[in-house]
Amino acid sequence: MDCLFCAIVAGDVPATTLHVTEHTVAFSDISPQAPLHALVVPRTHFANAAELAAGEPATLAELVSTAAAVATAAGYPDDYRLVFNTGAGAGQTVFHTHLHVLAGRDLGWPPG
Ligand code: 5GP
Ligand code: ZN
Repeated sequence: MDCLFCAIVAGDVPATTLHVTEHTVAFSDISPQAPLHALVVPRTHFANAAELAAGEPATLAELVSTAAAVATAAGYPDDYRLVFNTGAGAGQTVFHTHLHVLAGRDLGWPPG
């Protein structure tokens, strides 16, 4: 299977790694939309958050814990946004589960 984030997890595509845990890897988004814009992915391939929840529910919790650790380490322990885009119509472009972590600016609501 040709999957960009599997390749990043494997180390075959370079990325700026921010945090690693047993089941997750966090790295900087290549096109940051905020001063902090990280992606947290499971090491195992799932297409989206719901598939991860069904297949490895503990890893879904680990994604959130990793995201909180990344936000805290970047200086934003209390104010950050977590986003799972699901489906092309919602803006998903990479079909390996990834949790966006955004912080460091006024993020606005509702999101665009
Ligand atoms: P999505 O649009 O699927 O929710 O998010 C995919 C994210 O992956 C985008 O924010 C995009 O900037 C990021 N991205 C795409 N290609 C790469 C890459 O090669 N390296 C990294 N670090 N991020 C990427
Ligand atoms: Zn993958």
